[in-house]
Amino acid sequence: MNDDVQQELLASLGNTTLETEFFTLFPTGYVKGRTKYVVVLGTVMSGLGKGIFSSSLAKILKDKGLRVAPIKMEGYLNVDSGTLNPYRHGEVFVLDDGMETDMDLGTYERMLDENLGRGNFTTSGQIFTRILERERHGQYLGRDVQMIPHVTGEVKRTLRQLAVNSKADIVFIEVGGTVGDYENGYFIEAIRELAYEEGEEAVCVVALSYIMEPQSLGEQKSKAAQLGLRQVMQAGLQPHIIACRCPSPVNDKVREKISMFSNVPLRRVFSMHDVASIYLVPEMLREAGMDREVLTLLNIHDRVDQRSEDRARRTWQAFIDKLQQDKERTINIVIAGKYTSVRDAYASIDKALEHCSVHAGCHINIRWIDTTEIDARNVAEHLRGCHGIIVPGGFGVRGAEGKIQCVRYARENHVPYLGICLGFQMAVVEFARHVCGLVGANTTEFAPDCKDPVIDVLPEQKKIEGLGGNMRLGGKDVILKPGTRIRSLYGDHETVRLRFRHRYEVEPRYIPVLEDNGLIFSGHAPLQPIMQMLELAASEHPYFVATQAHPCLTSRPMKPDPLFLGLVEASVQRAYPQQVFANLNAEERRTAKSQPAVAN
Ligand code: GLN
Repeated sequence: MNDDVQQELLASLGNTTLETEFFTLFPTGYVKGRTKYVVVLGTVMSGLGKGIFSSSLAKILKDKGLRVAPIKMEGYLNVDSGTLNPYRHGEVFVLDDGMETDMDLGTYERMLDENLGRGNFTTSGQIFTRILERERHGQYLGRDVQMIPHVTGEVKRTLRQLAVNSKADIVFIEVGGTVGDYENGYFIEAIRELAYEEGEEAVCVVALSYIMEPQSLGEQKSKAAQLGLRQVMQAGLQPHIIACRCPSPVNDKVREKISMFSNVPLRRVFSMHDVASIYLVPEMLREAGMDREVLTLLNIHDRVDQRSEDRARRTWQAFIDKLQQDKERTINIVIAGKYTSVRDAYASIDKALEHCSVHAGCHINIRWIDTTEIDARNVAEHLRGCHGIIVPGGFGVRGAEGKIQCVRYARENHVPYLGICLGFQMAVVEFARHVCGLVGANTTEFAPDCKDPVIDVLPEQKKIEGLGGNMRLGGKDVILKPGTRIRSLYGDHETVRLRFRHRYEVEPRYIPVLEDNGLIFSGHAPLQPIMQMLELAASEHPYFVATQAHPCLTSRPMKPDPLFLGLVEASVQRAYPQQVFANLNAEERRTAKSQPAVAN
C-alpha cells in the first residue's frame, strides 16, 4: 500500500472522526458526475449471455463517440483466472498487460475493438488481498475492518479508479453470477452505495432476466423473472432497464407483467431473444432503443457525436451483411485438442474462425477431436475429410502423442496446418523426430529426461521459477523474417504484437539442425533467441504455419488474424482446387497437381 492511498484515506475522512460510517476512498483526480455508470446484473440463472449483452450495449454507446470502460467483477477468491480449469470456466483470456482473465474479457475486446487491461477485471481475491495488505500496514487507523464499509469501499474505489484512469464517460460494470449468490452479494451492496453517493442520473441499473417457454405449455412464463427481479429490489437496487432473455421474442403481455411487478416503465422492458450470431445483438438493442434510454437515464445526450455513430454503423452493417450472406463454399477444420467436449475452452479460436468465415466468404464446419484417442494407426481415419488442422494451446502430457500424430499427418499429406503455442511446440517435436531423425526428441514438460529436449524451459524462465511468476505472459513484439510466408501474411510488417502464455520454448542449441533440415523460423523475440513463429517453405507445403503466441486472442470481427485467415484460405484451396486452378499460372498448377488428392 503506498502513501497515496494513505493520503486519500485521510483526505476522505476529512473533518469527521474515525468513527464515521462513511468510508469512501476517492482516488486522486476523481470528479464526481464526470463518469456515469451502467451496471449489468443477472437474475434467474447464469449462462444468459450477460457478457455478450453488456459488451453489445457498451459498443452501441461507444459508437456514439462516448468513451466506455468495462469492468467484470468476479466473486471467486482466485486472484486471477490463470489457475482455473477451462473445463469449468471456459478459456483463460490473456490481456496485453499479462492479466489472465475470464473469457468475457475477450467478448468485450472483440465487440469494442480495443485492448483492455488489469483495471477492467477484478475478483474477490484481488479485493481481499488489497484489504488485508492495507490492514497489515495499519492503515485502517485502529478500526475493525468490516464488510461494510471497508470491503464495499474497496469495490467502489476500484470502480472510481477505473473512471479516473480511463477518463470514461461510462464505466460498464458487469457483476459475475446472479443476484442472490452468496459470493457476489457485497459487489451488489457496493453498487447500491455507489448509486447513493453518486446521486441522481449517475448510475443506470440494468437487470438481465429470463422468460421461460416450457414446451408442455407452449406459452411464455414470467414468474421466475419476477422473483429474480424482486431479489434485485430486496438488495436495495431499483432496476431502470430490464432485458428479458428468451428463445423467441417476448410478447407484450409478459413485458407488461414484468413492468408492473418491477416498477420499470414498459418502454424500458426489452425483449432480448436469441439471434443467429452474437454480432447481431448490438443492432437489436439499437433498434429497440435501449441506447436512447440509457442516455436519458444518465442525462448525457449532449455528449453524443452523431457523425461518429453514422460512421460506426456503416462499417458494422457491412460486416453484418457479409456475415449473413449465403456462403456457397464449406470447409472442414479439425481442432485437435484436449478439452474438445466444451466449446468455451477454445472460445477465441472459435471466434477467430468465425471472423475468417465472414472475410473469406465460406462456411466453416469445426470438428473437435480429442487427441487422447489418436495414434499412428487411426489418425488418417480421424482426420478424413478435413481441409485444415489446428493444434491449439494446452498444458500437460495427456493427448500429446496424438497431437504429434496430427501434425505428422498434416505435414506429410499437405493438409493446411496451424499450430498455436503447444501446437507450435508439437510441430517442432514432430519435425525433429521424423525429419531430423532425432527420435528421442520431446519437450521437457512431458519428458524431463528425454534424449533431445528440443523444447525446454529457457534459462531466464528457470531463474524466476522459484518466485512463482514463471509464465511468459501478455503482449510481446515479434520480429518477422523478411521473405517468409508469415511476414507476407502480416502485410510485410517487420514487427507484430501478439499475446503469449507459456513456459517452454525452442531450445536454442537445436535451432541449426532444425533449420538445416528445412524448418523456417520466421519470427523471434526482439532481444532473445526465442523462436516465436515457424513455417515450411511454400514449395514444400501449401500451408504449414505455427506460432508460440495465441493469435486468436487478438483476432477481431473486422480484423481477422492473418495466420487464421491464411489457414482458412489454404483450406478453401484444398477443398475447391478446381476453382483456384483458374487463377494459377503454369508453374503453380504443376505444384498444385503434385499435391495429394483431397480425401473427402
Ligand atoms: N504447455 C506449454 C508451455 O507452457 C504450452 C502452453 C500453451 O499452449 N499455452 O509452454
